[in-house]
Amino acid sequence: MSDRSILARSAADVAADIVAGVLPTTAALDACRDAATSVQVGPEGLNAALWFDAAHARESLTSASMHGALAGIPVAVKDNIATLRMPTTCGSRMLEGYVSPFEATVVARLHAAGAVIPMKTNMDEFAMGSSTENSAWGPTKHPMDPARVPGGSSGGSAAVVAAGVTRIALGSETGGSVRQPAAFCGIVGVKPTYGRVSRHGLVAFASSLDQVGVFGQSVDDAALGLQVIAGVDPLDSTTVDAPVADYRATRDITGDRPLAGVVVGRPLEYFPASLDPAMRALLDRAADTLRALGAEIRDVSLPHTDLAIPVYYIVAPAEASSNLARFDGVRYGLRVDDGDGLRGMYEATRSRGFGPEVTRRILLGTYVLSAGYYDAYYKRAMAVRRLITDDFARVFASGVHVLLTPTTPTTAFLAGTKKDPYEMYLSDIFTATANLAGVPAMSQPIGRIEGLPVGGQLLAAQFDEATMFRVAYALERALGEEAHR
Ligand code: GLN
Repeated sequence: MSDRSILARSAADVAADIVAGVLPTTAALDACRDAATSVQVGPEGLNAALWFDAAHARESLTSASMHGALAGIPVAVKDNIATLRMPTTCGSRMLEGYVSPFEATVVARLHAAGAVIPMKTNMDEFAMGSSTENSAWGPTKHPMDPARVPGGSSGGSAAVVAAGVTRIALGSETGGSVRQPAAFCGIVGVKPTYGRVSRHGLVAFASSLDQVGVFGQSVDDAALGLQVIAGVDPLDSTTVDAPVADYRATRDITGDRPLAGVVVGRPLEYFPASLDPAMRALLDRAADTLRALGAEIRDVSLPHTDLAIPVYYIVAPAEASSNLARFDGVRYGLRVDDGDGLRGMYEATRSRGFGPEVTRRILLGTYVLSAGYYDAYYKRAMAVRRLITDDFARVFASGVHVLLTPTTPTTAFLAGTKKDPYEMYLSDIFTATANLAGVPAMSQPIGRIEGLPVGGQLLAAQFDEATMFRVAYALERALGEEAHR
């Protein structure tokens, strides 16, 4: 029997004990294996893990697992991030059983830091969705209430961290897929600046928006995870060669007014009259807490916020239609040969391989890019995207360091209740802006409504994750247990 108390300690502390030889290299992995069995991460339970093999992970413990920053720490990885010797299916029939011939840069960096990967996590097919109900392998359940969704598209990663099976997990973000499930599940989720983390080996959805993100049970777990994977990568030309700050530098700052001099903006567009009063009250409490820590709270405006969802649902499907053209029955995964000739094979493969939401996005994207519609939709959307980016640039140039908003408009909703795709798309109303503007953003628990977690979102200027973490650490410490009440 393993020592389950290991999972109650921060990843950094456990790794330090493994490095010091106080704990055996396998201690955290064994605890993860037992937790995974007892909460049933597989299809018979949460259906959060599509592939789970602790023995396989044990074999992959290397010499780095005795001295790295993540020495011996199990990290769950979303199933659209390429790993060696385990499947990468993107939650799609199209890639059933597909095993990548190379591993993603983020995975290589996890391994180099001593981490082990015991599982690949469930997700909305090709990361399109906000509930993990769009997986070809069945929906993931919310760990606190099986009738509810964990959010999505990285719902499997969020669920395993919230269920206490791993302290850290990787997800991906195109419009909110790490922050939204983090908020629903009551954990921390970070989307870094566009260009901060390599996308090499992340299966492309919308390349101008996609980023790998990190889940943590605490701010420190998430900061440590990001620290390991961040930085320029010659294999991804969109990564930026900017210095990576020490994201954990402010973790121990206490004292009376640790946030003195920090200006926290509250954008009025994220607090519409329709916002649930209970959610508004929790955001007010978070703002009061920040004020008590010495921060100045300033009301600001990001006037183009309401255009984010329409713009996102033109840009993201347009890029997806082009990225997903590679799944043609020839190059990867599934091939259905019952059609007539080459064209018939393409049609049969793609109709059989893609689920309804992915098909809808491809159709939408092909439409907005087609002759005669390109100028009316895609070009205009790109112009409006620029306005959204400028909104953020203006606010951060005016002396605001971070923004505080709700992460989502609601708490975790009941499975099967959002049938209209547009209603589902509105789940990302407060998150898609950061992806369009390329700024870093994170969600952390700030309280509960009727027992269900609520996330507070912090956003910062491009490449200023350090300030975002400084505020997040202070808020987490000051809220204490209140963050989960
Ligand atoms: N829910 C959004 C979508 O369906 C965002 C997904 C994501 O961030 N990968 O596109």
